Amino acid sequence: MNIQDPKNAWAGAVAQIRAEIGEDQADLWFKPVEPLELRDCVLRLKVPNKFFSNWIRQNYQKRLVEILAAQGCGDVGLEYEISRNLDEVAPQADPIPAPRPQTDFSSSEFNPRYTFSNFVVGDSNRFAHATAEAVAKSPGAQFNPYFIYGGVGLGKTHLLNAIGNAVRGNNARARVLYISSEQFVNEYIDSIRHGNPDGFRAKFRNLDCLLIDDIQFLISKEKSEEEFLHTFNSLFNARKQVVISSDRSPKEMTQTEQRLISRFEWGVVADIKPPDLETRIAILRKKAEMEGFFVPEDVIIFVASAVKTNIRTLEGCLIRLKAFSLLTRAPLSVDSAKDILKDSLGQEEASPVRAETILRVVAYKYSLDIKDIKGHQRSASVALPRQLAMYLACVMTDLSLKEIGRAFGGKDHATVIHAREKIKKLLAEDPFFLEMANKLKSDILAVENH
Ligand code: ADP
Ligand code: MG
Repeated sequence: MNIQDPKNAWAGAVAQIRAEIGEDQADLWFKPVEPLELRDCVLRLKVPNKFFSNWIRQNYQKRLVEILAAQGCGDVGLEYEISRNLDEVAPQADPIPAPRPQTDFSSSEFNPRYTFSNFVVGDSNRFAHATAEAVAKSPGAQFNPYFIYGGVGLGKTHLLNAIGNAVRGNNARARVLYISSEQFVNEYIDSIRHGNPDGFRAKFRNLDCLLIDDIQFLISKEKSEEEFLHTFNSLFNARKQVVISSDRSPKEMTQTEQRLISRFEWGVVADIKPPDLETRIAILRKKAEMEGFFVPEDVIIFVASAVKTNIRTLEGCLIRLKAFSLLTRAPLSVDSAKDILKDSLGQEEASPVRAETILRVVAYKYSLDIKDIKGHQRSASVALPRQLAMYLACVMTDLSLKEIGRAFGGKDHATVIHAREKIKKLLAEDPFFLEMANKLKSDILAVENH
């Protein structure tokens, strides 16, 4: 046998490792691998995707190198070439002789409210949404796997369900499953407990589309994580769609998490950011419309300005307003909304801050000196920031009008009132000014609480 022939060398190594790790594992990981050449002590292997090379490198490389050396190939290193052309990947036989799943997927429910048509698109989620639509249109084709990440309450579960609803809508027989990773772990554990891991595998590995939510829960549950990777691998190689969500960006993850995620990186990764003011307004309008509930525009703007980072909270506010107006039959106004929502809205309004902090943050924002703001110059470039700072002092500090006047370089209290009223009017008229003011407020709070 010529051990310098890549095919022989590889076949020998696989035969040996097969004896050590078992048929299942060996078939799963090594059947799709093709030895290309063995030259200058490097064995080049063609693998279907990066997931394979990572997995082999991590789990088997050390042992393979030892076996190759023991077989007389010398000190051989392994290199991987990724076969990007998915058509070249032979559809891999499922290593588990899988009966058709018992599960009736047509009854697997997606939240009917979580559809694409109910999803408001803005800059914060445009790419995630577009990719989700493309995935739903042709699952398993271009954007596979699809990894969505974003903070809590920003629409990940909504998008996963929208994909499920759309795939099912296009093909009633499609085997689509939505599952949280927590439930995945529980089902896996149950299947082990009941001595039926094959049933579990058959269920998951025969899907056309797996939508797995909140993958962060799976991380560090070693056995389940490994099981998931097998499921993933098996689906991917059969060109079935996998969609994964996480509440953390790859950068925020620990090393273990990053290792898991790196296996998906050759797919498409999209993030959902907190929505900007315009999108928050559009979401509130949409939800109000869906609820058949009329909300005056200024109340919409008020709520959208007050809740910035969580769409679930935004919806919660709307539900409270609705309950209130059904009960009292009183018309909604910004003032009544403020009152109804005072517990739901952040503590931002509550904690008093120092006038000095407001001066500093506003001066910085407008590239002015604090002494300009305290001064008397009347040009708009100074007067507006000064008035805004005074307004903020009125709503954020517990100082009296007189004390505020004093903090602003000895103005009288009428000047403070004038500034307050002028800015109030501007805020009511101009949502973008309002957003800017809110941003300043949160900067001020951030400085204050530092
Ligand atoms: P996540 O899973 O990211 O925590 P969800 O998908 O559960 O967030 O979204 C929270 C709520 O906000 C849901 O009721 C969802 O319908 C709604 N939501 C999120 N994003 C949007 C959007 N872009 N348009 C309409 N509703 C949205
Ligand atoms: Mg969710």
